[in-house]
Amino acid sequence: MDLKEKVRIIEDFPFAGISFKDITPLLSDPDVYVETINQLEKVVQNLDEKPDIIVAPESRGFFFGIPLSFKMGIGFAPARKPGKLPCEVVSQEYTLEYGTNSIEMHKDAISPGTKVLIVDDLIATGGTLLATAQLVEKMGGDIVGMIAVIELTDIGGLEKLKKYNPTALISYP
Ligand code: IMP
Repeated sequence: MDLKEKVRIIEDFPFAGISFKDITPLLSDPDVYVETINQLEKVVQNLDEKPDIIVAPESRGFFFGIPLSFKMGIGFAPARKPGKLPCEVVSQEYTLEYGTNSIEMHKDAISPGTKVLIVDDLIATGGTLLATAQLVEKMGGDIVGMIAVIELTDIGGLEKLKKYNPTALISYP
């Protein structure tokens, strides 16, 4: 199945000049959703090391990270927007086009040496996944893979993340 055909492109959303990749059609059709998760799992099977846990950033990363963790029979730990998690957290700030943002994980979500797979819907500038990876590393996690459903190849995100060898199912320039 060609998943790229299922992604819906919306021009000038949320701002003029942005060609937004809408992944919701991958979720609403059960055959397409299952196929997306199966294709992600195939990528993971080619990694050198099997992950112990999946970490995904809020919120679109959850759509793919959680079902993949079910399928693989491994755990899931969310990286969330500030102020959402109730216990002690570790935070990582990152730069947006205008201003900064941060994400948080529970401090005890990852123990040193845990093999972590990072999953998200889309790699654009790479800022979100870099912050997620830095958060995992702060806790001593060992990142064994980084995968997304979609990568945008011409805006520098893959270069920013290259030490983690990011891969994606679908590419757009
Ligand atoms: P980055 O931090 O610039 O790589 O942006 C990645 C995050 O922004 C992802 O987690 C996406 O959820 C979101 N994002 C950016 N562009 C798009 C898009 O075209 N479609 C869907 N999500 C997007």
